[in-house]
Amino acid sequence: MLEARALMVFYENMLALNNVSIACGEDQIVGVFGANSAGKSTLMYTLSGIIEDIKKKEEMAGGERITVMGTLLYRGRDIMGLSPSRRAKAGIILCPERRRIFTESSVIENLRIGGYLASGSQARETLEYVFKIFPALARLKKRVGGFLSGGEQQMLAIGRSLMAQPRLLLLDEPLMGLSPLIQATLVRATREIRDERGISIIVTEQYARPVLPIVNHAFILENGSAVLEGTREDLMNNPDVRSAYFGV
Ligand code: ATP
Repeated sequence: MLEARALMVFYENMLALNNVSIACGEDQIVGVFGANSAGKSTLMYTLSGIIEDIKKKEEMAGGERITVMGTLLYRGRDIMGLSPSRRAKAGIILCPERRRIFTESSVIENLRIGGYLASGSQARETLEYVFKIFPALARLKKRVGGFLSGGEQQMLAIGRSLMAQPRLLLLDEPLMGLSPLIQATLVRATREIRDERGISIIVTEQYARPVLPIVNHAFILENGSAVLEGTREDLMNNPDVRSAYFGV
């Protein structure tokens, strides 16, 4: 589905991604784990193409020079350099870090905005699906985004991404700052999204433990480099990984 080879991203002279190669197959959940500043968001911006927008903005403002190199294949096609909106139309949808919902708009408005790429019938069907996996949102349809709890905002952010009809969903630190109970709800929903909708998912997190049970494969990022990869079992059985990333 997606294969990234030897990705390099420089912010001016600062190397944020160093020769990172990762892949995500059809119907897979792939985890990318790493501490603060490991490069998780930069990776998600590079896969979704948002980095191209950031780069242009910086160039126009006379700011820092951003350099992106490497190979990015999506469903057999080279998408390096393609704009984020073209990638979104092709099914690569980013659910960004810190939720970024529209705080002044209601739940239903947020979801409808997410569905602007979808046809009317797709949007209706997906809206029903979002309310099925997140019943809390169905009860809060008219509530303004800014008045939702952190967990509800994350549900809304994921729901909005689903409305955009992803084939590959990129979830950037969806569990950040949320209670274990809410985390469990979101992890369960993430698995359902793969199993019921056949959507492939790449999910980043600082801590591997809550999402590890649902990943097929995972990568560990350290200072911009992918230092380790393996199946869920490989990582669970690696003693260094266990102590550093799973807290066990
Ligand atoms: P976090 O968990 O804190 O979000 P992260 O793993 O997502 O971290 P990134 O946000 O990708 O990490 O950052 C990787 C490195 O690149 C960091 O050292 C960060 O300071 C740097 N960086 C990120 N964005 C920029 C930018 N626009 N200009 C300069 N440096 C940046």
